[in-house]
Amino acid sequence: MKEKTLTTAAGIPVSDNQNSLTAGERGPTLLQDHFLLEKLAHFNRERIPERVVHAKAAGAHGVFTVTNDITEYTKARIFCEVGKKTEMFGRFSTVAGEKGSADTVRDVRGFALKFYTEEGNWDMVGNNTPVFFIRDAMKFPDFIHTQKRMAQSNLRSHTMWWDFWSQVPESLHQVTILFSDRGIPKGIPYMNGYGSHTYSFINGKNERFWVKFHFKTQQGIQNMMQQEADRIAGDDPDYHTRQLFEAIERGEYPKWTFYVQVMPEVDAGNYRWNPFDLTKVWPHGDYPLVEVGRMELNRNPENYFAEVEQSAFSPANVVPGISFSPCKMLQARVFSYADAHRYRLGVNYESLPINRPKAAVCNYQRDGYMRFDGNGGASVNYEPNSLGGPKADPAYAEPPLKISGDADRYDQKRGVDDDYVQPGNLFRLLPPDEQKRLILNITNSLKKVPRQLQEKMVAHFRRADQDYGDGIAEGLGF
Ligand code: NDP
Repeated sequence: MKEKTLTTAAGIPVSDNQNSLTAGERGPTLLQDHFLLEKLAHFNRERIPERVVHAKAAGAHGVFTVTNDITEYTKARIFCEVGKKTEMFGRFSTVAGEKGSADTVRDVRGFALKFYTEEGNWDMVGNNTPVFFIRDAMKFPDFIHTQKRMAQSNLRSHTMWWDFWSQVPESLHQVTILFSDRGIPKGIPYMNGYGSHTYSFINGKNERFWVKFHFKTQQGIQNMMQQEADRIAGDDPDYHTRQLFEAIERGEYPKWTFYVQVMPEVDAGNYRWNPFDLTKVWPHGDYPLVEVGRMELNRNPENYFAEVEQSAFSPANVVPGISFSPCKMLQARVFSYADAHRYRLGVNYESLPINRPKAAVCNYQRDGYMRFDGNGGASVNYEPNSLGGPKADPAYAEPPLKISGDADRYDQKRGVDDDYVQPGNLFRLLPPDEQKRLILNITNSLKKVPRQLQEKMVAHFRRADQDYGDGIAEGLGF
């Protein structure tokens, strides 16, 4: 096979890629060596802004197959018939660490899925935990600052974590999951994914249901003990990335079963929990899991930057039949994810190959940095027009959402113990050996913080469950 000729970015053949153009054999380099200048200048610009959160990730392509009919709840075309297949892409990340940080740290994992449906992309941008630390986005940048680095030393700080958590008791549920065995998965194939927020389904009769999304691993939940994780973080910081990539190369395709919990719209007002509070689950006994389908990851990316780094997920990307809920965190993420991508990748990020929908994109958006998709060609760029441009279709209108009350700033807590019951339930369902490890993990972290914060946290854990708090108090030598 004839070798391809090396070219500049403008496609011009290059005569020498090893020796710079110099004035004489030992003389200085000439400015005229535009290929060298282009090479160095492009290299300087290889990095794009790292994601503030979820910077370290692995990704893979796959397919989603419907296994059960849920059309009574949603008209989304992706679920329209049993056996239907939809191509998808998944990105799995840690949250707090930088792009080169170790995979086996104790952290929440991002579980972001993009389904290329015939009615546009549905992004299911979740985590491997069913809840989150906070329920109001007003707290989000502050919370993330506690997970990142201190202003002066650039070191991470357990004191920042516990200072924040001790004053935000709704975090106790997620803190319990984080310090439990599930806080360090054995690998991406061995963890569940959850939509975490409540979303809505809308069916063909335009009826609304509240829903929660669950992707349960078919490999079984498997976790890593702290000591092993610490060792691997040094030996092979990219352990989870390597494990997923190599499994797919070997033809061992990880699979998840997709389930939903479905709540009739009218139940929301009377339910014991605020169903839109991201720090709460809906107990399975109240709303059982309904099977929907199977997700399989079966193809590695060809190029990490093009596919994983440039993939851009947003909870705003819901398709007809799937929609939002009043969850305050979801409402904020609908704005902030797309906003992050506009900053990170530019305003035309949805046209990048990994993000581009398989469905046709027809609108009046034009121009902007890096417009590389033809920019609508000669077609009309305003509406209303009499030139046959795309038109909105009222058939896609959602049923009106009933709201009530005064505009104000509400803490959505329902009762005094609201934030303590579910962390306590979780503690009580753990087997005794896992309870011990949970207590040990928390104690090891709390040992690094001032006594006054330890006391505050012990009081919180005791309110969740007396044995839970007592175990931590004992571990701290109270
Ligand atoms: P159930 O007995 O119906 O559900 C128990 C669920 O707890 C399991 O299905 C499993 O969720 C999850 N679980 C089991 N072992 C662990 C573990 N070691 N670490 C973390 N989660 C575990 O009870 P409830 O529905 O009332 O939930 C009780 C508690 O379980 C909740 O407070 C919550 O913390 C936790 N949980 C609940 C989920 C829900 O959607 N109801 C989802 C995940 C956790 P899974 O099957 O998803 O792995």
